[in-house]
Amino acid sequence: MKKILLATTNKGKLNDVKEILKDVEVEILSFLDFDEYPEVEETGTTFLENAELKVRAAFEKYGIPSIGDDSGLESFQLNGEPGIYSARYAGLPADDEKNNLKLLEKLSQYPEPHLGRFVCAAVYFDGKGLISAVGEVRGNIINNPRGKNGFGYDPLFVPDGYKNTMAELTHEEKNKISHRLKAFKELIKILDWD
Ligand code: IMP
Repeated sequence: MKKILLATTNKGKLNDVKEILKDVEVEILSFLDFDEYPEVEETGTTFLENAELKVRAAFEKYGIPSIGDDSGLESFQLNGEPGIYSARYAGLPADDEKNNLKLLEKLSQYPEPHLGRFVCAAVYFDGKGLISAVGEVRGNIINNPRGKNGFGYDPLFVPDGYKNTMAELTHEEKNKISHRLKAFKELIKILDWD
C-alpha cells in the first residue's frame, strides 16, 4: 500500500484527513509516528506558502511522499484575520479557547452577521514537482460557542445552509463539507488516486 506522511502534529487535523481519505488505498502517517520531527516555522505569507514549507521539511527529513497543509479562518469584517495566524492568534503556546475569545472580542465592534470562511491549502511533494489544491467553506461566525466536536474555531462557525456549528456536526458531517475535504479531494483527483 502507498504511504504518505501528513506534515502535522495536530490530531484533529489528522483525524479529519483519515476520514476524508478513508476510501483511498493509502496508509497515512503523521509527525506523531516519529520520535523526532521538524519544527516548521510558518514564515510564509499565504496558506499555500506555509503548506509548501511544511511539506518540503517533511520530505527532506523522512524521504516519504508527503502532504503539507495550512488552514485557517478568515473573517471578512477583519480583513481576513486571523488567517495564517489562526493557530497562534492569541499568542503562543497555541490555545483554541483564547483564540476564540480574541476573535469574538474583535468582532464585537462590528454588526452581525460576521461572515467568513475556512480555507485549506494542501500541497503534495515527493521530491519532484509540487502539486497543490485549495478548498474553502463559507459561513457565519457566531457570538457564543456551541458544540463539543472538532477543534479550533469549530464551535463559532456555522457553515452556509446549516443551523449547527461545525462543532455540533458529527465528524462525518463536517468532513462532507469542510475546506479540508475540498482541498484534499481536489489533490487526490490531480494525483489520480480517486
Ligand atoms: P495550521 O495547523 O497551521 O494549519 O493551523 C490551523 C489553525 O486554523 C487551527 O489551529 C485552527 O485554529 C484553525 N483551523 C483550521 N482548520 C480548522 C477546522 O477545520 N476547524 C476549526 N479550526 C480550524
